[in-house]
Amino acid sequence: MIVQPDAAGIAEAVALLRAESVVAFPTETVYGLGADAFSHQAVGEIYRLKNRPSWNPLIVHVPTVSAARDLSDCWPGNADKLAEAFWPGPLTLVVRRAAHLTGVGADNDTIAIRIPAHPVALRLLEAAGLPLAAPSANRSESISPTTAEHVIRSLPDVPLVLDGGPSSWGIESTVLDLTTDVPTLLRPGALALRALRDVTGAIALPDAETADGAARPSPGMSKRHYAPRATLILAEDVHDVAADGSVGVLSYEGFPGDEILSADPREYAADLYAALHRLDDSGVTTILVQEPPRTEDWLAVRDRLGRAAAK
Ligand code: AMP
Ligand code: MG
Repeated sequence: MIVQPDAAGIAEAVALLRAESVVAFPTETVYGLGADAFSHQAVGEIYRLKNRPSWNPLIVHVPTVSAARDLSDCWPGNADKLAEAFWPGPLTLVVRRAAHLTGVGADNDTIAIRIPAHPVALRLLEAAGLPLAAPSANRSESISPTTAEHVIRSLPDVPLVLDGGPSSWGIESTVLDLTTDVPTLLRPGALALRALRDVTGAIALPDAETADGAARPSPGMSKRHYAPRATLILAEDVHDVAADGSVGVLSYEGFPGDEILSADPREYAADLYAALHRLDDSGVTTILVQEPPRTEDWLAVRDRLGRAAAK
């Protein structure tokens, strides 16, 4: 059920969270499927509803830096500097987890934390008084939701979705590991690397392939994720590709009839998932996507498109 995020809606959501159930809520990145991070039952419900593999850990959302520190065993200087610069915002920090914590990601000695920059998310976190584990509110591997309607279509069994309008960033947070000597990028995302480097200095990238946003040498190397039902094909010259069946085209310098996104990477990212949802809903069997430039500004978008195209 989609609910307005007024006092009654928030109270209903809090009651569900305290009863160890789950609630979908808006964030500035994408909609999250939230649960009490330290309830095994509630966290289990996230994995069950999403059909998410158990090895994929969850990000924990908190309303304040002190709540974040409480979840950590060691809070490095870089965490303070990054929190000061970017929280609330689309940056997730991985730190050593406080030893007494069980629940989310218990197989890990690290924890991933962020403060979301959405008034409804913050109101919910404060009212619930619980750290909320929240992955994107969609079935595992499929397109992330940037509206309340996207959530219901992907996860019709979610008991409650708080409607906060379309997500402004529209792409997942950047995940940075602070447990290594040099901070390591674990997932490119909304926040650009350049902005992070201004605060931390050098950032290590997972591998050369993703470093410059280059296409992966083989689809088998990347995990399928963020994928529409239609087959997604990335091509430099989309209008030269011959594809069977009904075809939709997603481009940033397109022709009439294409689904056309901005040539600015931030604006493109904000509209990407909604455009993929629209193309999927139109019933096409193939989506041809014009390959974005191989520059660092496009790192997060290229990462998502690469995984969406993976078999
Ligand atoms: P999602 O919540 O689906 O947007 O994705 C959560 C992502 O956060 C995971 O895929 C990991 O990249 C990252 N993550 C969460 N927890 C941890 C952790 N303890 N250590 C490393 N990465 C994590
Ligand atoms: Mg996700």
